[in-house]
Amino acid sequence: MGDCIFCKIIAGEIPCFKVFEDEKVLAFADINPISEGHTLIIPKGHYENLWEIPENDLLAVQRASKAVAAAIRTALSPEGIACLQLNGKAVNQVVMHYHFHLIPRQSHEPELKMTAWEMVPGDMEAIRETSKKIAAAV
Ligand code: 5GP
Ligand code: ZN
Repeated sequence: MGDCIFCKIIAGEIPCFKVFEDEKVLAFADINPISEGHTLIIPKGHYENLWEIPENDLLAVQRASKAVAAAIRTALSPEGIACLQLNGKAVNQVVMHYHFHLIPRQSHEPELKMTAWEMVPGDMEAIRETSKKIAAAV
């Protein structure tokens, strides 16, 4: 799609360090890794986010994430792997082509910021009301 970096990677116009590919998805190393082994999994079709990607492509990404996570565990023996997927500029999605991050962490690496938020109990009444609104819209 136009000037989408990830579409160019899929087309082979921009190089990448590929770790996995099938008919529907491509997995490759993130060029600005948060940790060793930081990997992205993308659908080959251009879909911007979770509400655009068709269910079949989403399933293909999730299926691949399981295989690639297993491979990361075999190759790097991380202590854990964070899964991250951003939708929209407001939450710092930078590349507007759906992508699923696998971010492994070794014990000697710094704590991943996105997994270390402070637990503050919420207002139960507000949580109930918001949940009702979402449930009604499912
Ligand atoms: P987002 O914030 O959109 O979830 O993250 C986009 C990710 O894509 C970032 O982690 C960034 O490092 C990665 N990225 C951006 N451009 C390229 C590129 O040209 N090649 C690769 N391999 N990764 C990229
Ligand atoms: Zn694209």
